[in-house]
Amino acid sequence: MSELIGFDMDGVIVDSDRPGDTWFRDSFVRTLTDFGVEPSDENIRALYITSMRDNAAAVCERFGVDDPYLLWKRRDENYIAYKLAALKRGEIELFADVDALFELKESYPMGLVSNSPQAVVDSIIEHFSLQELFDVWFGRGDKLPELRFAKPSPAMLIDMMERLDATRGYYVGDSPEDVIAARAAGLVPIRISRNGSDGDIRSLRQIAGFIATRAGE
Ligand SMILES: [Mg+2]
Repeated sequence: MSELIGFDMDGVIVDSDRPGDTWFRDSFVRTLTDFGVEPSDENIRALYITSMRDNAAAVCERFGVDDPYLLWKRRDENYIAYKLAALKRGEIELFADVDALFELKESYPMGLVSNSPQAVVDSIIEHFSLQELFDVWFGRGDKLPELRFAKPSPAMLIDMMERLDATRGYYVGDSPEDVIAARAAGLVPIRISRNGSDGDIRSLRQIAGFIATRAGE
């Protein structure tokens, strides 16, 4: 049984949340406008994964929408379309320190596990030619009931471990839900904080050092 390293995608591998870029917000505004709902900040937040996972019925009631599945379907379709368009425009870039992963790859099987939809993950992998770097790449399912398998659920991380025949390893992420999912799957979380405000590392170049320090403890 080998030891793997898993990675979150947004904020870890690709810079998909740059200040000033509006595709994310625009996609939610589009969905709300399509349903005749005011695109306020509060209504935008109601379309987030955690909100729709836990409160889809209440959100629909507030919006005056009959079908939560239809609301989620449109929300997800718009999110995918706007994100892929941003990728095409060059607004989503690979972080420069991804180059450090090619060295790690010689010692570890590696997987990508993202809360982005599978279609987006597939497009990112292809756009940046990352097929050689990652052995597997998983995005979340696009149906409303499948949101319960998104992180912080460990489900996708466990799938990755099974596919890579590993029972141990690390998961590199930039958000609290990554840490929760990693621990629940039995992986060691490595929190990256690129501005250095908190976290275990600031750059992907520090992963090898982090693992070596841990092994020496
Ligand atoms: Mg992230």
